[in-house]
Amino acid sequence: MLPIYFTFHGSYKKMEVLNMKALIERNGCIGCGLCADTCSTVFRMDDEGLAEVYTDPVPSVSEDSAIEAADSCPVSVITIE
Ligand code: SF4
Repeated sequence: MLPIYFTFHGSYKKMEVLNMKALIERNGCIGCGLCADTCSTVFRMDDEGLAEVYTDPVPSVSEDSAIEAADSCPVSVITIE
């Protein structure tokens, strides 16, 4: 069964949870660090001060916090698939 995610009023909602993947459109990242603070098992800041995803797929225990990080990104450059 494939994961199904959808947005509802601008927030990600989860219907199934299997092999979640997080992506960052790094050229839009402003380096605030919020995603790394919210979900440190998936996101971290690199030497350039930009966020990167270093865990793929997202561990099942981190799925809710990864979604929260995507929802909280001030410039909406995080995508959850
Ligand atoms: S929350 Fe968004 S803008 Fe802030 S560091 Fe993460 S990806 Fe970059």
